[in-house]
Amino acid sequence: MSTPDAVVVGSGPNGLAAAITLAQAGLSVTVLEARDTIGGGTRTEELTVPGVLHDVCSAIHPFALGSPYFSSLPLAEHGLVWKHPEVALAHPLDDGTAGVMHRSIEETAAGLGADGSRWRGVFGPLVDRFEPLADEALGPIVHLPSHPFVLGRFGLRAALPATMLGRRFRTDAARALFAGCAAHISRPLDRPLTSSVGTMLIVAGHRHGWPVAEGGSRAITDALASLLRSLGGTIETGVRVTSLADLPPSRVRLFDTSPTGFADIAGLKQPRWRYGYSAYKLDLAVEGGVPWTAEACRRAGTVHLGGTLEQIAAAEADVARGRMPERPYVLVGQQYLADPTRSAGDVHPVWAYAHVPHGYDGDATELVLAQLERFAPGTRERVVGMHVTDPAGFAAYNANYVGGDIASGATTVRQLVARPRIRDPYATAVPGAYLCSASTPPGPGVHGMCGHLAAQRALRS
Ligand SMILES: Cc1cc2nc3c(=O)[nH]c(=O)nc-3n(C[C@H](O)[C@H](O)[C@H](O)COP(=O)(O)OP(=O)(O)OC[C@H]3O[C@@H](n4cnc5c(N)ncnc54)[C@H](O)[C@@H]3O)c2cc1C
Repeated sequence: MSTPDAVVVGSGPNGLAAAITLAQAGLSVTVLEARDTIGGGTRTEELTVPGVLHDVCSAIHPFALGSPYFSSLPLAEHGLVWKHPEVALAHPLDDGTAGVMHRSIEETAAGLGADGSRWRGVFGPLVDRFEPLADEALGPIVHLPSHPFVLGRFGLRAALPATMLGRRFRTDAARALFAGCAAHISRPLDRPLTSSVGTMLIVAGHRHGWPVAEGGSRAITDALASLLRSLGGTIETGVRVTSLADLPPSRVRLFDTSPTGFADIAGLKQPRWRYGYSAYKLDLAVEGGVPWTAEACRRAGTVHLGGTLEQIAAAEADVARGRMPERPYVLVGQQYLADPTRSAGDVHPVWAYAHVPHGYDGDATELVLAQLERFAPGTRERVVGMHVTDPAGFAAYNANYVGGDIASGATTVRQLVARPRIRDPYATAVPGAYLCSASTPPGPGVHGMCGHLAAQRALRS
């Protein structure tokens, strides 16, 4: 291997964003990826039936479209096309109705009846100021704000336990719609700061929608890789880095790895870093699509399952205690509705994963299917192919998903503030080596901001 100025270990969206940032600054960059394909959590494969394309990990991308860094890149010129479902999100309830979130906040409010004006009141002021909010929120929590007013407004909502902000709404539909978004944080919903992720998801959704990438999430990876190569960067696959000695003596080294993975590579003492909830995922090939009882779910790119705010909060609290809930919170993706290129005839890919306790080693397949049947009776008979990924499967798939934790680190208050350190979060004990993965600010999601900010930090040195 010739000696590049910079090496990036790992080709997830953050690794590629870091590499592009360095290449834009004129450095020669090589990315080393352990697997035979690039992309980390943004990959798409035929997991079930030939011709049916499943997103292995990430599926829905409000933060990619709203990312200050990705939106500065010419990704469309490198083949990335965003597609929007007719309905962004639906949240079915047992009475056959559903809370519905559209891209338009007005349309959403109109559908929420008595809670419409409250929904507008809670989220509307932030939707109008999404760009400055993204600049503030998609980075380290502890920083000197450039837009203190909008950050303050966000902070007043984000700091609250989701159960508390959710109870500002009166209807089950609006409460559940919010709780389903809040539960993305993978924490018990009665804890401080658990409104933060849900609020950002809703605000981003009303600003940019909840889009999917045409052809599958791997199209995001392909566009980033194409842009990197156009800037002179190179990528090598099938190279698992196990020691700093595996790397060429470059000036800068960035690690799209977890803090514990980095400690192993660098031969350092393991840091104090906790992992959180795990994921248990079913990729289903469904003939004719899921027969949802609530009509809006049949048009929605994302469907959250779990019932009412109280039911979701109880399920998430069980997961935190290490107990597998009877009725887990399940996120369902129907990306094919916006992007029919993923289906084979009338057989469609359906993406569904549940929050399960960290390292859960049981079989949750029936519990996830039961949640689908609860709101869409007859789903089972339509399933013609299924691929299961349990926590051990996720850990084997990607070294960053320790114990099946797809967020690469628990989203506790401590680890949101210190991710993994309060001051200089991207720097490590090794000079010239920086962390750039989702274990750094602003955290999980496909937005590339961890990689971009880490690379900027490295460039400042
Ligand atoms: C089931 C699931 C659903 C998700 N849904 C969404 C969603 O809908 N929307 C969204 O925005 N986000 C979603 N995410 C989260 C998102 O995928 C991640 O937050 C994001 O991919 C993190 O990017 P990253 O670059 O930090 O790390 P990763 O994408 O995890 O990439 C890390 C890369 O580094 C490589 N690597 C690690 N160690 C080494 C080593 N020692 N040597 C060489 N290579 C190494 C890995 O093989 C991997 O390719 C989901 C994730 C999962 C798993």
